[in-house]
Amino acid sequence: MREHFLVFGSPRIDEDEIEEVVSCLRSGWIGTGPRVAEFERRFAAYKGASHAVAVNSCTAALHLSILAAGIGPGDEVITTPLTFCASVNAIIHAGATPVLADVDPRSMNIDPECVKARITRRTKAILPVHFAGRACDMDPLCALADAHGLTVVEDCAHAIETEYHGRKAGCFGDFGCFSFYVTKNIITGEGGLILARKPEHAARLKVLALHGMSSDAWKRFGDEGYKHYLVTEAGFKYNMMDLQASLGLRQLEKVERYWLRRQEIWARYMTELADLPLTLPAPVEADTRHAYHLFSVFVDGKRAGITRDAFLTAMTGHKIGVGVHYLSLPEHPHYQERFGWTPDEWPNARDIGRQTVSLPISAKLTDEDVGDVIAAVRHILT
Ligand SMILES: *Cc1c(COP(=O)(O)O)cnc(C)c1O
Repeated sequence: MREHFLVFGSPRIDEDEIEEVVSCLRSGWIGTGPRVAEFERRFAAYKGASHAVAVNSCTAALHLSILAAGIGPGDEVITTPLTFCASVNAIIHAGATPVLADVDPRSMNIDPECVKARITRRTKAILPVHFAGRACDMDPLCALADAHGLTVVEDCAHAIETEYHGRKAGCFGDFGCFSFYVTKNIITGEGGLILARKPEHAARLKVLALHGMSSDAWKRFGDEGYKHYLVTEAGFKYNMMDLQASLGLRQLEKVERYWLRRQEIWARYMTELADLPLTLPAPVEADTRHAYHLFSVFVDGKRAGITRDAFLTAMTGHKIGVGVHYLSLPEHPHYQERFGWTPDEWPNARDIGRQTVSLPISAKLTDEDVGDVIAAVRHILT
């Protein structure tokens, strides 16, 4: 048995990141400034995108994208029931109505056929989530969006490194929304970013993210002299700080190295858990790149001889932190009361939410940690 509890999704923080944060603190400029601007430039370059707007979370990124698309009351946005609550909360906060389309049981991603069946006169957007870092089937989704004149907002919270048919996740839609929350593939503590395809969208996002003040308002206390700002609409307080961007700048330099490490861990799990009564993640689809953000195994109580929830408890008993991604959204009382959703209406998402467990797969894990995870799973199931 290990000595210390293995915290699920704990990020790796190196000395150079700590130094960058300290140097930001010493610079006297910790709010939104040059480091955020540099992080936006470098992230856009990494993705080959033209416009990036950094914000303080992916939730904020999703909310502003929907607003900037001009979507609001009376409009419907189709998304997946197998996602973090932020994806639908952002739709609700924009005043629009979320509509759920079930997932494909193999890929765990939104099923384009189910999306098609949910399109109405009121549908204005599709909000696909690249679940676990596996690319959604963007060809049919984009074809549906084109045919019906819908906006596409990609939730790329798991999908920094994801690619599909030679193109990068976040660059298919009108908006690509990223998270740098502590458990994600690269982190700023709290943080998010929007890739926008159109320059007018990027400009509007910048204004909305900082109180609705005319653009570059953050420069008003800089050495170029005091600048007046003008409020052009009632915006939000969603800006990223330089303090956060300090972490992001150094983390982004390691994004490919961390991806390779997670790929290695993924491959080891696939080999060393192959003989157990579990369903492992489906093979990565041809001509796509998986971001390996989550390694979710399917625990069928009958076949495994243990229920999912008992498995979670047993892993904790072995001092291994585990996660559930996610109980399907219709399991939550608020959505049941507000929209009349019931889990049975989206059976694939329901089953995944009730039967999967995510094992640790962060770049911080040592070979010994990974060995401990494998030993715990084997001990519980054999
Ligand atoms: C983490 C996550 C979010 C929210 O990201 P924050 O940066 O914490 O706001 C949204 N969608 C999905 C799928 C996520 O996993």
